[in-house]
Amino acid sequence: MSDDAMDGLCVRECQRCPALVESRSRIVNGVGPDDANLLFLGEGPGANEDEQGEPFVGRSGSVLDDALREVGLARADVRITNCVRCRPPENRDPTKEELGNCRGYLERELELVAPDLVVTLGKVPSEHLLDRSVAVTKEAGDVVDVRLGDRSQRTLVCVHPAATLYDGSQKETFFDAVAKAADLSGLADGGDGQSSLGDF
Ligand code: SF4
Repeated sequence: MSDDAMDGLCVRECQRCPALVESRSRIVNGVGPDDANLLFLGEGPGANEDEQGEPFVGRSGSVLDDALREVGLARADVRITNCVRCRPPENRDPTKEELGNCRGYLERELELVAPDLVVTLGKVPSEHLLDRSVAVTKEAGDVVDVRLGDRSQRTLVCVHPAATLYDGSQKETFFDAVAKAADLSGLADGGDGQSSLGDF
């Protein structure tokens, strides 16, 4: 797919998904360093994200921030992006067609950022990247190599941070997966609240 609509890592204008163009108030692009070692991939913007123009804000974002803080990382240390960049109406899941429409932008972002590790947050992004059905609770913490064009992308399956809000038992699963992700991407806790690349 053409990525002519992209300006670096950002999509400035796109009309490919009529229902999402109707429901969005803006395109929500990824945030974080353009050379991040660790990239978190969500499904798509919700109401808060659509309003603020940033992925994973609101309660889910707070859970993600807490898990990152636990391993000495800040949101600014990682990149966060979504499978679709526009808010679906009524917070429904994006359709296969919409995921496909936005796929080229995601692949371009992954190619340019070239993270050591992608963490898929929840069922939709996990199945989108792995291209198979995924039991996220069971597979959380598993690491797989995903083929993207001519690249292989190391990917860690994870539950959605919101799952910890509805089911307390998911909290450990989520926090453990984020800790493993920090470790695998070389961003393990430096012990001083700062990210550390000391082992590399
Ligand atoms: S979701 Fe992606 S492909 Fe669809 S309109 Fe938004 S930017 Fe374009």
